[in-house]
Amino acid sequence: MKIQDIQAIQLLLATPKKIAIIPHRGPDGDAMGSTLALYHFLLKNNHHPTVIAPNDFPDFLAWLPGSETVKIFEKDTENCTKILEEAEIVFTLDFNAFHRTGEMEHTLAKLKAPFIMIDHHQKPDDYATYMYSDTSFGSTCEMIYNFISFLGKKEDLDKTIATCIYTGILTDSGSFRFPKTTGNTHRIVADLIDLGAENTEIPVLLFDNSSYSRLQLLGRALQNMKVFEEHKTTYTTLAQSELDAFNYIKGDTEGIVNYGLSIKGINFTAIFIENKDEKIIKISFRSQGGFDVNQFARDHFNGGGHTNAAGGRSEVSMEETVKKFEDLVTKLKI
Ligand code: 5GP
Ligand code: MN
Repeated sequence: MKIQDIQAIQLLLATPKKIAIIPHRGPDGDAMGSTLALYHFLLKNNHHPTVIAPNDFPDFLAWLPGSETVKIFEKDTENCTKILEEAEIVFTLDFNAFHRTGEMEHTLAKLKAPFIMIDHHQKPDDYATYMYSDTSFGSTCEMIYNFISFLGKKEDLDKTIATCIYTGILTDSGSFRFPKTTGNTHRIVADLIDLGAENTEIPVLLFDNSSYSRLQLLGRALQNMKVFEEHKTTYTTLAQSELDAFNYIKGDTEGIVNYGLSIKGINFTAIFIENKDEKIIKISFRSQGGFDVNQFARDHFNGGGHTNAAGGRSEVSMEETVKKFEDLVTKLKI
C-alpha cells in the first residue's frame, strides 16, 4: 500500500467515524472473515462500524464473532440504505466492482463518502479513493492483517480478530494448499494461533458441520459428474429439483466444485447450479496449473475471479448452458 494512502487513512481514522463495511454478494469465509475482522478492529478504535452484506451469509459462518450484528441489505433495504448514506467511510472488502454486490450497486454508486478497497481480485474498478488491491494474495483476510499492521496497530490484534482472519485465510487457501499460500501466509497464521485463534476448532466449525442431506447432495453431484479425459476437464450439475430433494440450504453447495479436480490428471472443472428463483445457472470454475478460469469466465460466462478460482452465470437453460460449456471444452488445450 502507498505510504501516502496509509497516512491519509490514519488521518481519517484519527477521530471516531461512522463506517460501513461491505462484502460481496454471496459472502464466503474470506468476505465474512475480513469484514468482521475489520469491524472488531474499528470498534476497538472507538468507531461506529456496521457490516452490510448484500444478501445473507451461509449458516456455516454464523458462529463467526460479530456475525449477529451483520445487516442484510436485501432483507432490510431501507435501514441499510440509511446507514450507507450516513457513513463517513465505506470499506469494500473481497471484491472490486460494484456489480458484485447485486442490487446494492445502485446505492453504492450514489454515495459521497470516501471508499477504501481491500481486495485480491483482478482488474479493480476505479471507484475507491484508497486502494489496497493486490492479486498476489490468497485472501483478503491476509491483507486485513497487513492493513492493521500498516496502520501501526498490530497491538490491537486479539483472539476475536485473529479468529476472523484465520477463517478467511483457511477457506480461501483451500486449507493452506492453493498456490498463493506463502511462507508469509504461514507466518501470519502462526501469529494468529499465538493470539488465540483455535486452529483445530475453526476447521471443524467450518467443514465438519454438514447435515446428512448435504452429504447426499454432494453424492448426487459426484454421480452427475462428466469427465473429458482428453481435455483434462470435468464438470457437474445440480438442478433445482435435486437441490429441493435434498433440502438444500444456503452453503450446502460450498466446496463441491473442488471434487472435480481430485480425479487424477484433471486440471479444469466446473459446477453448474440451477437457481429457479433468480432464473439463472450459477457457475463455479476451478483449475490447477496455468489454465486461467478468470479469463474463461469473463469471456464466456459473464463472470470473473482469479486464475484458479472463478465464477459466472448463465441466463439460458441448464441444457443449453452445459452444451455451450461442452462445445468450448472440446476446443480447449489444457
Ligand atoms: P465461487 O465459485 O466460490 O462462487 O467463486 C470463486 C471466485 O470467483 C471468488 O473469488 C469470487 O469472488 C469470484 N466470482 C464468483 N462468481 C463471480 C461472478 O459472477 N463474477 C465475478 N466477477 N466474479 C465471481
Ligand atoms: Mn477472497
